[in-house]
Amino acid sequence: MIVKILGAESLGVRGLFCVVELKNRKICIDPGIALGWSRQGFLPHPFQIAVGADIRENIIDELKDATDVIISHFDGDHCPLLHPNPFQLGIEEVKDSLSQCRIWAKGPDQCPSTQKKRREELAESLNRELFNAEGMREHHLEFSAPVPHGQQEEHRIMMSRIEENGETFVHASDIQLLNENTIETILKWKPDIVFVSGPPLYRYVLPSHQVQREHAWENAIRLSEQIDTLIIDHHLLRSEEGIAWLGKLKRAARHKIYCAADFMERTPLFLEAWRKALYEWLPVSEDWHENYQHGKIDVRDYRIRGWDVLISRGKIKPCKWYDACPMKAYTKQGKLERYWIENYCLVDNHRHCLRYQMEEQGQYHPDFMLPNGETRKDLQ
Ligand code: SF4
Repeated sequence: MIVKILGAESLGVRGLFCVVELKNRKICIDPGIALGWSRQGFLPHPFQIAVGADIRENIIDELKDATDVIISHFDGDHCPLLHPNPFQLGIEEVKDSLSQCRIWAKGPDQCPSTQKKRREELAESLNRELFNAEGMREHHLEFSAPVPHGQQEEHRIMMSRIEENGETFVHASDIQLLNENTIETILKWKPDIVFVSGPPLYRYVLPSHQVQREHAWENAIRLSEQIDTLIIDHHLLRSEEGIAWLGKLKRAARHKIYCAADFMERTPLFLEAWRKALYEWLPVSEDWHENYQHGKIDVRDYRIRGWDVLISRGKIKPCKWYDACPMKAYTKQGKLERYWIENYCLVDNHRHCLRYQMEEQGQYHPDFMLPNGETRKDLQ
Protein backbone atom coordinates (compact mmCIF):
# COMPACT_ATOMS: atom_id res chain seq x y z
CA MET A 1 0.00 0.00 0.00
CA ILE A 2 1.32 3.41 -0.95
CA VAL A 3 -0.23 6.48 0.68
CA LYS A 4 0.39 9.90 -0.88
CA ILE A 5 -1.04 13.09 0.64
CA LEU A 6 -1.32 15.87 -1.92
CA GLY A 7 -3.67 18.45 -0.41
CA ALA A 8 -3.68 19.69 3.19
CA GLU A 9 -2.93 22.82 5.21
CA SER A 10 0.73 21.89 5.78
CA LEU A 11 1.09 21.63 1.99
CA GLY A 12 -0.33 25.13 1.51
CA VAL A 13 -4.10 24.63 0.97
CA ARG A 14 -7.26 23.60 2.79
CA GLY A 15 -8.26 19.96 2.29
CA LEU A 16 -7.45 16.36 3.11
CA PHE A 17 -6.87 14.91 -0.35
CA CYS A 18 -4.88 11.72 -0.53
CA VAL A 19 -4.26 8.77 -2.84
CA VAL A 20 -4.01 5.17 -1.65
CA GLU A 21 -2.48 2.80 -4.17
CA LEU A 22 -3.19 -0.91 -3.71
CA LYS A 23 -2.00 -3.75 -5.93
CA ASN A 24 -4.96 -3.44 -8.29
CA ARG A 25 -6.75 -0.26 -7.20
CA LYS A 26 -6.07 3.41 -6.97
CA ILE A 27 -8.29 5.14 -4.41
CA CYS A 28 -8.57 8.94 -4.23
CA ILE A 29 -10.08 10.36 -1.05
CA ASP A 30 -11.71 13.80 -0.74
CA PRO A 31 -10.89 15.36 -4.12
CA GLY A 32 -11.44 18.99 -3.22
CA ILE A 33 -9.49 22.11 -2.37
CA ALA A 34 -10.07 25.57 -0.88
CA LEU A 35 -7.89 28.41 0.34
CA GLY A 36 -10.04 29.97 3.06
CA TRP A 37 -11.89 32.91 1.52
CA SER A 38 -11.07 35.37 4.28
CA ARG A 39 -8.74 35.04 7.27
CA GLN A 40 -7.77 37.90 9.57
CA GLY A 41 -9.44 40.20 7.05
CA PHE A 42 -7.32 39.05 4.12
CA LEU A 43 -8.20 37.18 0.94
CA PRO A 44 -5.77 34.40 -0.05
CA HIS A 45 -2.36 35.81 -0.88
CA PRO A 46 -1.33 35.49 -4.57
CA PHE A 47 1.48 33.14 -3.56
CA GLN A 48 -1.02 30.81 -1.89
CA ILE A 49 -3.19 31.06 -4.99
CA ALA A 50 -0.21 29.95 -7.12
CA VAL A 51 0.55 26.98 -4.86
CA GLY A 52 -3.16 26.09 -4.77
CA ALA A 53 -3.43 26.13 -8.57
CA ASP A 54 -0.65 23.54 -8.82
CA ILE A 55 -2.25 21.30 -6.20
CA ARG A 56 -5.59 21.54 -8.01
CA GLU A 57 -3.85 20.37 -11.21
CA ASN A 58 -2.31 17.46 -9.29
CA ILE A 59 -5.75 16.41 -8.02
CA ILE A 60 -7.12 16.50 -11.57
CA ASP A 61 -4.19 14.37 -12.80
CA GLU A 62 -4.48 11.82 -10.00
CA LEU A 63 -8.19 11.31 -10.67
CA LYS A 64 -7.59 10.39 -14.31
CA ASP A 65 -6.72 6.77 -13.54
CA ALA A 66 -8.49 6.36 -10.17
CA THR A 67 -10.51 3.17 -9.77
CA ASP A 68 -12.33 4.47 -6.67
CA VAL A 69 -13.14 7.88 -5.26
CA ILE A 70 -14.27 8.38 -1.66
CA ILE A 71 -16.05 11.56 -0.56
CA SER A 72 -16.21 11.85 3.23
CA HIS A 73 -18.68 14.76 3.09
CA PHE A 74 -19.61 17.66 0.85
CA ASP A 75 -17.79 20.65 2.31
CA GLY A 76 -16.19 22.70 -0.48
CA ASP A 77 -12.64 21.65 0.39
CA HIS A 78 -13.48 17.93 0.15
CA CYS A 79 -15.36 17.51 -3.12
CA PRO A 80 -15.60 18.99 -6.62
CA LEU A 81 -18.23 21.72 -6.96
CA LEU A 82 -20.70 22.84 -9.58
CA HIS A 83 -20.11 26.46 -8.62
CA PRO A 84 -16.50 26.64 -7.40
CA ASN A 85 -14.86 29.90 -6.42
CA PRO A 86 -11.66 30.69 -8.39
CA PHE A 87 -9.55 28.65 -5.97
CA GLN A 88 -11.66 25.48 -5.72
CA LEU A 89 -12.06 22.37 -7.86
CA GLY A 90 -14.92 22.42 -10.37
CA ILE A 91 -16.90 19.35 -11.40
CA GLU A 92 -16.29 20.22 -15.06
CA GLU A 93 -12.56 19.71 -14.57
CA VAL A 94 -12.94 16.11 -13.34
CA LYS A 95 -16.23 15.03 -14.88
CA ASP A 96 -14.72 12.46 -17.26
CA SER A 97 -12.59 10.89 -14.54
CA LEU A 98 -15.49 10.67 -12.08
CA SER A 99 -17.73 9.10 -14.70
CA GLN A 100 -15.39 6.14 -15.02
CA CYS A 101 -14.67 5.09 -11.45
CA ARG A 102 -16.57 3.80 -8.43
CA ILE A 103 -17.68 6.60 -6.11
CA TRP A 104 -18.21 5.93 -2.41
CA ALA A 105 -19.90 8.96 -0.89
CA LYS A 106 -21.41 9.97 2.41
CA GLY A 107 -25.19 9.73 2.29
CA PRO A 108 -27.50 12.77 2.04
CA ASP A 109 -28.74 12.71 5.65
CA GLN A 110 -27.27 14.40 8.71
CA CYS A 111 -25.57 17.20 6.86
CA PRO A 112 -26.33 20.88 6.16
CA SER A 113 -28.63 21.69 3.24
CA THR A 114 -25.72 23.19 1.25
CA GLN A 115 -23.98 19.82 1.35
CA LYS A 116 -27.13 17.95 0.29
CA LYS A 117 -27.38 20.33 -2.65
CA ARG A 118 -23.74 19.80 -3.63
CA ARG A 119 -24.26 16.05 -3.51
CA GLU A 120 -27.28 16.33 -5.80
CA GLU A 121 -25.43 18.64 -8.17
CA LEU A 122 -22.53 16.20 -8.43
CA ALA A 123 -24.89 13.28 -9.13
CA GLU A 124 -26.80 15.28 -11.75
CA SER A 125 -23.64 16.53 -13.46
CA LEU A 126 -22.27 13.00 -13.69
CA ASN A 127 -25.68 11.67 -14.63
CA ARG A 128 -25.34 8.84 -12.12
CA GLU A 129 -26.53 7.99 -8.66
CA LEU A 130 -24.03 8.43 -5.88
CA PHE A 131 -23.75 5.32 -3.76
CA ASN A 132 -24.31 5.93 -0.05
CA ALA A 133 -21.35 4.10 1.45
CA GLU A 134 -22.03 4.74 5.16
CA GLY A 135 -21.52 1.58 7.21
CA MET A 136 -20.64 -0.51 4.11
CA ARG A 137 -17.80 -3.02 3.61
CA GLU A 138 -16.37 -4.06 0.26
CA HIS A 139 -13.20 -6.15 -0.04
CA HIS A 140 -10.39 -3.70 0.86
CA LEU A 141 -12.75 -0.90 1.90
CA GLU A 142 -14.87 -0.22 4.96
CA PHE A 143 -16.83 2.91 5.85
CA SER A 144 -18.02 4.21 9.20
CA ALA A 145 -21.52 5.18 10.12
CA PRO A 146 -21.83 8.99 10.04
CA VAL A 147 -19.77 10.57 12.84
CA PRO A 148 -19.86 14.18 14.07
CA HIS A 149 -18.03 16.92 12.19
CA GLY A 150 -16.16 18.20 15.23
CA GLN A 151 -18.86 18.47 17.84
CA GLN A 152 -21.77 19.07 15.49
CA GLU A 153 -24.19 16.15 15.97
CA GLU A 154 -26.39 17.31 13.07
CA HIS A 155 -23.43 17.71 10.68
CA ARG A 156 -21.69 14.40 10.10
CA ILE A 157 -18.93 12.94 7.98
CA MET A 158 -17.95 9.41 6.93
CA MET A 159 -14.58 7.88 7.79
CA SER A 160 -12.96 5.22 5.62
CA ARG A 161 -10.70 2.25 6.31
CA ILE A 162 -8.53 0.65 3.62
CA GLU A 163 -6.73 -2.61 4.25
CA GLU A 164 -4.40 -4.71 2.11
CA ASN A 165 -1.98 -7.46 3.12
CA GLY A 166 -2.38 -6.73 6.82
CA GLU A 167 -1.69 -2.99 6.50
CA THR A 168 -4.50 -0.61 7.39
CA PHE A 169 -4.98 3.07 6.58
CA VAL A 170 -7.77 5.22 8.04
CA HIS A 171 -8.93 8.58 6.67
CA ALA A 172 -10.78 10.48 9.42
CA SER A 173 -11.85 13.72 7.83
CA ASP A 174 -12.92 16.73 9.93
CA ILE A 175 -13.52 14.86 13.18
CA GLN A 176 -11.25 17.41 14.92
CA LEU A 177 -10.39 14.82 17.63
CA LEU A 178 -13.38 15.87 19.70
CA ASN A 179 -15.74 12.91 19.96
CA GLU A 180 -14.91 9.90 22.17
CA ASN A 181 -17.03 7.42 20.20
CA THR A 182 -15.37 8.43 16.97
CA ILE A 183 -11.93 7.87 18.50
CA GLU A 184 -13.17 4.49 19.72
CA THR A 185 -14.24 3.53 16.18
CA ILE A 186 -10.81 4.44 14.80
CA LEU A 187 -9.02 2.38 17.45
CA LYS A 188 -11.30 -0.63 16.86
CA TRP A 189 -10.26 -0.55 13.22
CA LYS A 190 -6.66 -1.19 14.40
CA PRO A 191 -4.99 1.09 11.86
CA ASP A 192 -1.28 1.39 11.14
CA ILE A 193 -1.64 4.85 9.59
CA VAL A 194 -4.31 7.45 10.43
CA PHE A 195 -4.78 10.73 8.58
CA VAL A 196 -7.01 12.98 10.65
CA SER A 197 -8.16 16.57 11.06
CA GLY A 198 -6.94 18.26 14.25
CA PRO A 199 -8.90 20.80 16.34
CA PRO A 200 -9.59 24.30 14.89
CA LEU A 201 -7.77 26.19 17.65
CA TYR A 202 -8.13 29.50 15.77
CA ARG A 203 -11.88 29.30 16.45
CA TYR A 204 -11.48 28.59 20.17
CA VAL A 205 -11.44 32.16 21.40
CA LEU A 206 -13.68 31.91 24.49
CA PRO A 207 -12.71 30.60 27.94
CA SER A 208 -15.48 28.00 27.52
CA HIS A 209 -13.53 26.48 24.62
CA GLN A 210 -11.04 25.12 27.13
CA VAL A 211 -13.16 21.95 27.24
CA GLN A 212 -12.67 21.32 23.51
CA ARG A 213 -8.96 22.04 23.79
CA GLU A 214 -8.60 19.45 26.56
CA HIS A 215 -10.69 16.84 24.74
CA ALA A 216 -8.70 17.20 21.54
CA TRP A 217 -5.40 16.93 23.40
CA GLU A 218 -6.44 13.86 25.37
CA ASN A 219 -7.78 12.16 22.26
CA ALA A 220 -4.61 12.94 20.30
CA ILE A 221 -2.50 11.40 23.06
CA ARG A 222 -4.82 8.39 23.18
CA LEU A 223 -4.50 7.80 19.43
CA SER A 224 -0.75 8.33 19.52
CA GLU A 225 -0.35 5.60 22.15
CA GLN A 226 -1.84 2.96 19.87
CA ILE A 227 -1.11 4.08 16.33
CA ASP A 228 2.34 3.89 14.75
CA THR A 229 1.83 6.64 12.19
CA LEU A 230 -0.55 9.41 13.20
CA ILE A 231 -0.86 12.27 10.70
CA ILE A 232 -2.72 15.33 12.05
CA ASP A 233 -3.43 18.26 9.76
CA HIS A 234 -6.27 20.36 8.30
CA HIS A 235 -8.17 22.67 10.75
CA LEU A 236 -5.32 22.52 13.28
CA LEU A 237 -2.68 23.97 10.98
CA ARG A 238 -4.49 27.15 9.95
CA SER A 239 -2.84 29.11 12.77
CA GLU A 240 0.53 29.55 14.44
CA GLU A 241 -1.08 28.32 17.65
CA GLY A 242 -2.02 25.08 15.91
CA ILE A 243 1.51 24.63 14.58
CA ALA A 244 2.84 25.06 18.14
CA TRP A 245 0.20 22.60 19.45
CA LEU A 246 1.43 19.98 16.98
CA GLY A 247 5.03 20.61 18.04
CA LYS A 248 4.09 20.08 21.70
CA LEU A 249 2.22 16.89 20.81
CA LYS A 250 5.23 15.56 18.88
CA ARG A 251 7.32 15.98 22.03
CA ALA A 252 4.72 14.42 24.35
CA ALA A 253 3.54 11.49 22.22
CA ARG A 254 4.74 7.92 22.47
CA HIS A 255 4.87 7.32 18.70
CA LYS A 256 5.95 9.65 15.94
CA ILE A 257 3.41 12.34 14.98
CA TYR A 258 3.36 13.85 11.52
CA CYS A 259 1.65 16.61 9.59
CA ALA A 260 0.96 15.84 5.92
CA ALA A 261 4.18 17.59 4.83
CA ASP A 262 6.25 15.61 7.38
CA PHE A 263 4.69 12.38 6.12
CA MET A 264 5.54 13.31 2.53
CA GLU A 265 9.05 14.28 3.72
CA ARG A 266 8.69 17.86 2.55
CA THR A 267 9.21 21.17 4.28
CA PRO A 268 5.79 22.37 5.54
CA LEU A 269 4.14 25.36 3.84
CA PHE A 270 1.68 26.71 6.42
CA LEU A 271 0.47 29.37 4.01
CA GLU A 272 -2.89 30.07 5.64
CA ALA A 273 -1.27 30.46 9.07
CA TRP A 274 1.29 32.79 7.49
CA ARG A 275 -1.24 34.77 5.43
CA LYS A 276 -0.99 38.06 7.32
CA ALA A 277 2.80 37.88 7.28
CA LEU A 278 2.80 37.11 3.54
CA TYR A 279 0.93 40.36 2.93
CA GLU A 280 3.59 42.22 4.92
CA TRP A 281 6.51 40.54 3.17
CA LEU A 282 4.97 40.70 -0.30
CA PRO A 283 2.41 43.53 -0.46
CA VAL A 284 -0.53 43.18 -2.87
CA SER A 285 -2.37 46.03 -4.59
CA GLU A 286 -6.02 46.60 -3.64
CA ASP A 287 -7.38 45.66 -7.05
CA TRP A 288 -5.19 42.57 -7.50
CA HIS A 289 -7.88 39.98 -6.62
CA GLU A 290 -10.52 41.64 -8.76
CA ASN A 291 -8.13 41.73 -11.71
CA TYR A 292 -7.18 38.11 -11.08
CA GLN A 293 -10.84 37.02 -11.05
CA HIS A 294 -11.37 38.76 -14.37
CA GLY A 295 -8.34 37.02 -15.88
CA LYS A 296 -6.44 40.30 -16.26
CA ILE A 297 -3.45 39.19 -14.20
CA ASP A 298 -1.57 36.01 -13.47
CA VAL A 299 0.29 34.80 -10.42
CA ARG A 300 3.69 34.12 -12.02
CA ASP A 301 5.48 37.06 -10.47
CA TYR A 302 4.18 36.31 -6.95
CA ARG A 303 4.90 32.62 -7.45
CA ILE A 304 8.61 33.35 -7.98
CA ARG A 305 8.90 36.05 -5.33
CA GLY A 306 6.87 34.00 -2.82
CA TRP A 307 9.41 31.20 -2.73
CA ASP A 308 12.27 33.70 -2.46
CA VAL A 309 10.62 35.46 0.45
CA LEU A 310 10.01 32.18 2.33
CA ILE A 311 13.73 31.41 2.01
CA SER A 312 14.80 34.88 3.13
CA ARG A 313 12.41 34.76 6.12
CA GLY A 314 13.73 31.34 7.16
CA LYS A 315 10.35 29.63 6.64
CA ILE A 316 11.84 27.09 4.25
CA LYS A 317 15.33 25.75 3.78
CA PRO A 318 16.15 24.52 0.29
CA CYS A 319 18.14 21.38 -0.46
CA LYS A 320 21.78 21.73 0.51
CA TRP A 321 22.83 21.35 -3.16
CA TYR A 322 20.38 23.97 -4.43
CA ASP A 323 22.79 26.83 -5.11
CA ALA A 324 25.11 24.61 -7.15
CA CYS A 325 22.43 22.46 -8.78
CA PRO A 326 21.86 22.82 -12.55
CA MET A 327 18.09 22.60 -11.89
CA LYS A 328 18.26 26.05 -10.30
CA ALA A 329 20.21 27.48 -13.24
CA TYR A 330 17.92 25.93 -15.89
CA THR A 331 14.86 27.29 -14.08
CA LYS A 332 16.36 30.78 -13.86
CA GLN A 333 17.18 30.67 -17.56
CA GLY A 334 13.57 29.74 -18.31
CA LYS A 335 14.57 26.36 -19.81
CA LEU A 336 12.92 24.26 -17.09
CA GLU A 337 9.41 24.38 -15.62
CA ARG A 338 9.34 25.64 -12.02
CA TYR A 339 7.56 22.40 -11.01
CA TRP A 340 10.88 20.67 -10.43
CA ILE A 341 12.46 23.13 -8.00
CA GLU A 342 9.14 23.79 -6.24
CA ASN A 343 8.46 20.11 -5.64
CA TYR A 344 11.98 18.90 -4.87
CA CYS A 345 14.64 21.56 -4.21
CA LEU A 346 12.75 24.29 -2.34
CA VAL A 347 10.82 21.91 -0.09
CA ASP A 348 13.90 19.78 0.57
CA ASN A 349 12.18 16.67 -0.78
CA HIS A 350 15.49 14.96 -1.36
CA ARG A 351 14.35 11.45 -0.43
CA HIS A 352 12.60 11.40 -3.79
CA CYS A 353 15.35 13.16 -5.77
CA LEU A 354 17.58 10.81 -7.72
CA ARG A 355 20.08 13.59 -8.34
CA TYR A 356 20.40 14.05 -4.56
CA GLN A 357 20.80 10.33 -3.92
CA MET A 358 23.48 9.99 -6.62
CA GLU A 359 25.25 13.09 -5.41
CA GLU A 360 25.42 11.60 -1.90
CA GLN A 361 26.84 8.35 -3.26
CA GLY A 362 29.35 10.13 -5.47
CA GLN A 363 27.78 8.64 -8.62
CA TYR A 364 27.99 10.38 -11.96
CA HIS A 365 24.76 11.95 -13.24
CA PRO A 366 24.40 14.31 -16.18
CA ASP A 367 23.38 17.92 -15.68
CA PHE A 368 20.29 17.34 -17.84
CA MET A 369 18.92 14.59 -15.55
CA LEU A 370 15.78 15.66 -13.69
CA PRO A 371 15.08 14.87 -10.02
CA ASN A 372 12.95 11.87 -11.06
CA GLY A 373 15.73 10.39 -13.20
CA GLU A 374 14.22 11.41 -16.54
CA THR A 375 16.78 12.92 -18.93
CA ARG A 376 16.01 16.06 -20.91
CA LYS A 377 18.51 16.52 -23.70
CA ASP A 378 16.94 19.88 -24.62
CA LEU A 379 18.52 21.27 -21.46
CA GLN A 380 22.07 20.67 -22.72
S1 SF4 B 1 17.56 18.66 -8.00
FE1 SF4 B 1 17.78 17.33 -6.22
S2 SF4 B 1 19.95 17.56 -5.66
FE2 SF4 B 1 19.43 19.30 -6.99
S3 SF4 B 1 18.85 20.91 -5.53
FE3 SF4 B 1 17.01 19.85 -6.19
S4 SF4 B 1 16.62 18.34 -4.58
FE4 SF4 B 1 18.75 18.97 -4.41
